[in-house]
Amino acid sequence: MEARSRLASGTAIALAPGIRRLVAGNPGLMTGPGTNTYLFGVHEIAVLDPGPLDDAHLQRIIEVADAPIRWIITTHTHGDHSPLAKRLARATGAELIGVPPPHDGRQDMTFAPDRVPVDGQTLQLGDVRLVAICTPGHASNCVCYLHQEAGMLFSGDHVLEGVSPVILPPDGDMAHYLASIDKLMGLSFDRIAPGHGGVIDNAKQTLAMLRKHRLMRESKVISALRATDNATLESLTPRVYDDVPPDRHVWARLTLEAHLIKLLQENRVDRQGAIWSLRKE
Ligand SMILES: [Zn+2]
Repeated sequence: MEARSRLASGTAIALAPGIRRLVAGNPGLMTGPGTNTYLFGVHEIAVLDPGPLDDAHLQRIIEVADAPIRWIITTHTHGDHSPLAKRLARATGAELIGVPPPHDGRQDMTFAPDRVPVDGQTLQLGDVRLVAICTPGHASNCVCYLHQEAGMLFSGDHVLEGVSPVILPPDGDMAHYLASIDKLMGLSFDRIAPGHGGVIDNAKQTLAMLRKHRLMRESKVISALRATDNATLESLTPRVYDDVPPDRHVWARLTLEAHLIKLLQENRVDRQGAIWSLRKE
């Protein structure tokens, strides 16, 4: 685990040759130490996830880059990852690369990419090569970027350090999330550089743990449904998330709904209005 001092906002840290991380000044419950902005390259720079609208962070990105910024890439369009992209592009003339925002009311609608990566596509950005891996789940437009040379996966919010990402339905999708984890398992990399928090060294072990955690939570959903009459999201949340502090329950409830939608699609539960129940055999 990286020392927290390395994740102070405004501090640029070299992670590998030609790869630097700069943390935005937006620490919080859902953002950890703040959003990680990554800079790739030496003579020409690609910026991944410029972060929230924050002029100080904009200035700091340009300062730290210390070379022309040619490309701006996003992992997804939640408000803590992409809103600064437009302003940074205007300041630098850089090309915007990413998937446009879905319309679920939780997205940065100002993000309008010049180029949309397709799954498996290699992006040659000056001397830097990144492979785009579409990983829907946390949001439908999530893309991870694989830096093969460094053996590093830039995961956005698909994988985070120390916490399991929130799945925000209906745009976020639990079945897709698990499929995306399986897809990453088949690729070659050793380390994960997440959207929030420090670099994760044991990449594949972390993915396996995430998968196991989701299935553990799913089995708690099923047990809670078995033990509860007239189960609603409100009544199920404290039972299913009895190991999670109550101040996180508002977010936990969204992930719970994503679990229930997955079970509904698998014909394992029924829904009558706001009431959820196990399907009778
Ligand atoms: Zn997100």
